[in-house]
Amino acid sequence: MTIGIVGAGQLGRMMALAGYPLGFDFLFVDRDARTPGGQVGPILAGELTDRTLLGKLSESCEVLTFDWENIPVEALEALPGKARIAPPLRALAAAQDRLSEKRTFELLGIPTTRYAAVDSRESLELAVKSIGLPGVLKTRRMGYDGKGQFVIRAAADLDLAWEALGKAPLLYENLVPFDAEVSVIAVRGLGGEVAFYPLNLNVHRDGILRMTRAPYGNAALTRQAQRAARKLLEHFKYVGVLTIEFFVKRGKLVANEMAPRVHNSGHWTIEGADTSQFENHIRAIAGLPLGSTGARGHSAMINLVGEMPTREALLAQPALHWHDYGKTARPGRKLGHVTICDSTAKARDRRAFKVLSRIDRATWIAIR
Ligand code: AMP
Repeated sequence: MTIGIVGAGQLGRMMALAGYPLGFDFLFVDRDARTPGGQVGPILAGELTDRTLLGKLSESCEVLTFDWENIPVEALEALPGKARIAPPLRALAAAQDRLSEKRTFELLGIPTTRYAAVDSRESLELAVKSIGLPGVLKTRRMGYDGKGQFVIRAAADLDLAWEALGKAPLLYENLVPFDAEVSVIAVRGLGGEVAFYPLNLNVHRDGILRMTRAPYGNAALTRQAQRAARKLLEHFKYVGVLTIEFFVKRGKLVANEMAPRVHNSGHWTIEGADTSQFENHIRAIAGLPLGSTGARGHSAMINLVGEMPTREALLAQPALHWHDYGKTARPGRKLGHVTICDSTAKARDRRAFKVLSRIDRATWIAIR
């Protein structure tokens, strides 16, 4: 069976690397053959919105999936060929637009931030009046890694925020004074079976995920997260991996956003879980039984952002796993990650903080 992947970034590459041992072939579509996915599989080069190209992909594959969720849904509708699309386009459409994402959370009774749509300078004023300060103005579409966001702390910031983002449809929401950030990675198989990975404890800086530790064994939060994920999975009749990111405030979860795909906060599952999120996504979309989502010990994943550190000293550590995505270095760009595994949470934390102090000092200073 050939699985088509729209987008050949590191997520696509890790999906393919997990799927080859199961006996699948892969074909990517991306702008450039020199992408992380292009290094491990054949690639059709062109725009992700090019319907002719997507049609070719769909004619060559049995199943079609994504490593990037921002492809216009219209480009993917009614493609020629026999390929089944998973996750469903309805979930993709809901996650692409922060407004429909919030409405979906509301519809399903999943607690989320207070929010208002903003499409003019006047409506920004009204939104700030009704939701209050501080808040975050976000572009409704195409936001990732903190891009397209402006924190508004005082009335004087309104002009600056409007100037920075006012050209696109926007959403204003309250700034949550969170105690922590967590995410849940869930998977639903073709036959409707559901599994959850243990909760992830995440640290972001400048809107970019820097470190994830798992399992985060808070039973009450785990229950809330799984309840929310199950509602979304059933609502969309979802197939594949789905991620929800939450703020934790006074023991309660507030949903921030969902991603209809494998997720950066689940990279630790490659070495730290019985079955990785990538393998389970491939199993789900191919109609295979899901693998166990149990954690093997305790893991920490640290993103390598902007530049790659030197490998040798880090690799000299026991149970440290290195992932270089083969990308050109650029400030703020995710170039790779390391995962540290240990038998106790305490030992893992000690090692993870030491590694963090070396390769991402700013985050280490912020959270030590
Ligand atoms: P997002 O792209 O919406 O996931 O935002 C990236 C990161 O920015 C989040 O993980 C938070 O650390 C921070 N952030 C975004 N929105 C809010 C909010 N409403 N309140 C507090 N922090 C936020």
